[in-house]
Amino acid sequence: MNLLFRQGTIVDPSQKLHKVADLGVEDGRVAEIAPRIRGKGRKEIDAQGLILAPGFIDMHVHLREPGREDAETIETGTNAAARGGFTAVACMPNTDPVNDSEAVTSFILERAREVSKIAVYPIGAITKGSQGEALAEIGEMKRAGIVAISDDGRAVQNNQVMRRAMEYSTLFDLPVIDHCEDKDLSAGGCMNEGYYSTLLGLRGINPAAEEIHVIRDAMLCRQTRARVHIAHISTRRSLEVVKHAKREKTSITCEVTPHHLILTEAEVITYNTNTKMNPPLRTKEDVDALIQGLASGAIDVLATDHAPHNVNDKMLEFDRAPFGVVGLETAVSLILDRFVRTEQLSLERMVLAFSINPARILKLDRGTLSPGAWADITVLDPKLRVEVRGSDFQSRSRNTPFEGWKLIGGPAMTVVKGRIVWS
Ligand SMILES: [Zn+2]
Repeated sequence: MNLLFRQGTIVDPSQKLHKVADLGVEDGRVAEIAPRIRGKGRKEIDAQGLILAPGFIDMHVHLREPGREDAETIETGTNAAARGGFTAVACMPNTDPVNDSEAVTSFILERAREVSKIAVYPIGAITKGSQGEALAEIGEMKRAGIVAISDDGRAVQNNQVMRRAMEYSTLFDLPVIDHCEDKDLSAGGCMNEGYYSTLLGLRGINPAAEEIHVIRDAMLCRQTRARVHIAHISTRRSLEVVKHAKREKTSITCEVTPHHLILTEAEVITYNTNTKMNPPLRTKEDVDALIQGLASGAIDVLATDHAPHNVNDKMLEFDRAPFGVVGLETAVSLILDRFVRTEQLSLERMVLAFSINPARILKLDRGTLSPGAWADITVLDPKLRVEVRGSDFQSRSRNTPFEGWKLIGGPAMTVVKGRIVWS
């Protein structure tokens, strides 16, 4: 049944729109936006006090299928995304087997068609098995449907391999998403290197492990003219490098996660393994720089790095537990509560970072509510009272560092191609 939203606040920077209006949907697409629209038998939704935004896209998630269905599946992960307000996700290739071939890409897309209510875009590996040596079958995967390449989680160490990957990516017009980490510098580390790692007696990860790779990528990006996207940027100096590269008109973009914007390394003092992620939580100075970078637009994208882990895996000692936290079902509320409500971030910036910029970087036909576009709509309720409870998650995993947090604002409804997939 076609939908008609009555008197919602439409926030769509792709059309420079921020006003109260009706929005009509027909045949899965946005039909019109106007002060008053006739009903024409459509299902009417009272959207007074709610915000209608182009559907949110999380361009950095781990769905774990194939291989670790005990932690997440394409079905549970996309249900979590829908509940969290996301109409599309791009999934990283570090599954088992790694998505480095047409066969795995096709499997993911096939599975998504069967079980997912939202759009799923696979990301292919840069190198075979993400081993960092021979390039993967990038052309073959592109034909099968990947939207980017990345060795997320394993980080390409060899600079020549990365250079070739960037050169190659331009032939297929695919962005290269890089998890920046010099493995020699980070070896054995489990939290940020500094005062707290010394205090807690844990092996630190030198922030330069990330920054050196960001510098490398900026240099190679300029040379190869590839489109390079820095995943989960976490330090002030990494951001300085990206800003500098952008001033030189290099085609570089970057993303930040909610946890790197909200938590500092001090959280690790509890030894809660849900504060262990890679890159690790950093200092207050880094956090402040990232918030500013997001507000100014120097950081393009908000992405969760949703990394579900089985509870038994996370129950290990801090230095032995796996890296990563879930994020799909908390991201939108965290950003609304912490940054929009406190006026550090405009709604426009939030929508750019959650929808328009990921669509632009991945070249998706989404990320706008202009008439004729797919009716992918994230409906936000700025007054919604939310308490984070892992037991409420649609995700199969509960490894959140925000358990018990009380937040104001959150997703009220998720609409994909004109269909309500969660409310
Ligand atoms: Zn990563």
